[in-house]
Amino acid sequence: MPLRLDTPVKFLKGIGERRAELFAKLGVETAQDLLWHLPHRYLDASAVTPLAEARVGGEYACIGRVVAKKVVPLRRLRVFRAVLRDDSGVLECVWPGQAFLDRSIREGQTLLVSGPVRFYHGRQMAPREFVVLDEPDEAAATEAAHTSPTGRVGREGVADKAHVVGKVLPVYPATEGLSHKTIRALIDRHLNDLIALAEETMPAEVLKRLSLPPLAQALRAVHHPDDVAQAEQGRQRLAFDELFDLQLTLARARTLAKTARAGIRFEPKRDLTTKLRESLPFEFTAGQKQALKEIVADMGSPERMHRLLMGDVGTGKTVVALFAMLLAVENGYQAVLMAPTELLAEQHARTLATMLAPLGIIPEVVLGRHSAPEKQAVRKRLKDGGARIVVGTHALFQESVEFRKLGLVVIDEQHRFGVEQRAALIGKGEGPDVLLLTATPIPRSLALTLYGDLDVSVLRERPPGRGEITTGVRTAAGREKVWGFVREQVDTGRQAYVVLPIIEESEKADLRAATTMAEELAARWPDVTVGLVHGRLKAEERDVVMRRFRAGELQVLVSTTVIEVGIDVPNATVMVIDHPERFGLAQLHQLRGRVGRGGNASHCILLAEGRIPPRLKAFAATQDGFKIAELDLEERGMGDLIGARQSGGLTIRHAKLPEDAELLQRAREMATAVIAKDPDLTRPANKELRARALARYPRAVELFRVG
Ligand code: ADP
Ligand code: MG
Repeated sequence: MPLRLDTPVKFLKGIGERRAELFAKLGVETAQDLLWHLPHRYLDASAVTPLAEARVGGEYACIGRVVAKKVVPLRRLRVFRAVLRDDSGVLECVWPGQAFLDRSIREGQTLLVSGPVRFYHGRQMAPREFVVLDEPDEAAATEAAHTSPTGRVGREGVADKAHVVGKVLPVYPATEGLSHKTIRALIDRHLNDLIALAEETMPAEVLKRLSLPPLAQALRAVHHPDDVAQAEQGRQRLAFDELFDLQLTLARARTLAKTARAGIRFEPKRDLTTKLRESLPFEFTAGQKQALKEIVADMGSPERMHRLLMGDVGTGKTVVALFAMLLAVENGYQAVLMAPTELLAEQHARTLATMLAPLGIIPEVVLGRHSAPEKQAVRKRLKDGGARIVVGTHALFQESVEFRKLGLVVIDEQHRFGVEQRAALIGKGEGPDVLLLTATPIPRSLALTLYGDLDVSVLRERPPGRGEITTGVRTAAGREKVWGFVREQVDTGRQAYVVLPIIEESEKADLRAATTMAEELAARWPDVTVGLVHGRLKAEERDVVMRRFRAGELQVLVSTTVIEVGIDVPNATVMVIDHPERFGLAQLHQLRGRVGRGGNASHCILLAEGRIPPRLKAFAATQDGFKIAELDLEERGMGDLIGARQSGGLTIRHAKLPEDAELLQRAREMATAVIAKDPDLTRPANKELRARALARYPRAVELFRVG
């Protein structure tokens, strides 16, 4: 049977039923999946140095057999040590803080290690990378398991040392029972046949203009590079494809959003908007003024507004959004504010009610827990136009709610929305203007990726005198003092958050951590009310606890990261974060934003383990969300960021930011040019581009629907 892209991997030589099951765990089911199962890193063995010749002060790649190993305590760290031997001699390798390696590195294994060599009680390498080339008994074991004629692969370990020297070694995502080494051998074996199946879909002139290799060449470079530079070039080609597809989709969404229906021209009537401005006890900040200028211009133009307002919590987005809503209302339209959760919808309703009171407008709020007759009544007011400003959750749109004259939709915390969801939203209704709010500042390169279909306004500074937060980092030695401080704050009537990390590998362990902390604090302070929220609670149960905290019935709230992004408890002035090293910087910043929301001085305290790492010092030194976002992007790369931010929708696997920012810019320019000429991608020349973009973004079908 000839190999096809949809051939199940079990039919490939050397794989079979048992390995196919293991491959399935890695998401590899078909020949195509195998071809696209790409290395997540490389080990450069192009120059392998004999162990005896690795000199202090240099960086080397070495291969040796593990002849001894142990875990040793060093100050507060536990260090894993292994002694490697080859024909030339021995070298000690150390992995500080990685005692867990004791479980995976065994005596008799052959390791390829690479990293700097230094002097510390003798010559030592601190490997940055390592890979197990050979198990002591693997050759025999795999052979026994594979009596079939396809079992040849199992033997490759024996020859592996000779095999890898002088090469760049791809390291594949692997799983228990299916090592990266086996995967490498299998892919190597089928690579030519697999690559022959891959079809080039990028026009040759595009590749030429960017000096990117054809697809087949790129795939070969990624799986089987001669050197690191070649692997990187291959990756860039694959990265360009996905950035280009994304930008095509975004460019299409942007065109559609603006032109699908004529927008409404909202004229400033100097009525409600002016009244709002006069009734506010403060002046708008420069950033707010600029954002309002942009919004008023958008709303006044015949094209529809499709704008994102980005700014940290407390930068004053809500009042800007309210201004826009009133602009719609004074033009005789209705405006909606959508929140991601019921709790936040309620909170918004309350905030708006306060600000609208001087104007004699009462905002409507639609909540799940309202009774059927209540909902019925609101529905009627929406339909007959009696309700002018409405707050609700996304359910508002899913249910068959009818508006008399909807002019503006404001969506809060929309980062949970992908581009395709946004497009779907815009496709509905009578074509209202759309303003999205996000409290998660991101660098420009990432904004172009995530929000390339939107215009963006930015609020960088906080209103003067608001949101002053002192950030401190304390080590274990300072813990008692920290609890003393929290107690003091509680005694003066303030409230505190105590946040513990979610440990991905073991949700259970984490749960215990938060629970234990809550118990400990309750035992320590019998007269203080301590609450607990975590991801195992149902949304309603969580809401109950959060409400009690907001109402002041709970003085200390222990939680995992589930506490709502937008939750606003002005009386909470302390945020203690345990194990801050486990959080991304942006996440720490989000957590810090839960305090500093009232007039009182607030504090964020990080309880670090061991020495204080520079990243936490950098974090403590700034409150600028955009700066932190840049540090965060550098630290984590963008796959992670998108994963965290965007579940459905984006498929970014090969592109990296900020490194690929230029590639992204080129992809954007080219995609915009293509869409400008052929908005629906219906020209024959663009057939393949269209097919590929749709394959990657199936839900974008709506965007590219013809006719
Ligand atoms: P965000 O929605 O960006 O988190 P909010 O709109 O809730 O921020 O504003 C935070 C607080 O700051 C609110 O109490 C708000 O009334 C107040 N505020 C907003 N703009 C200003 C300003 N220009 N000057 C002083 N206070 C302001
Ligand atoms: Mg807000």
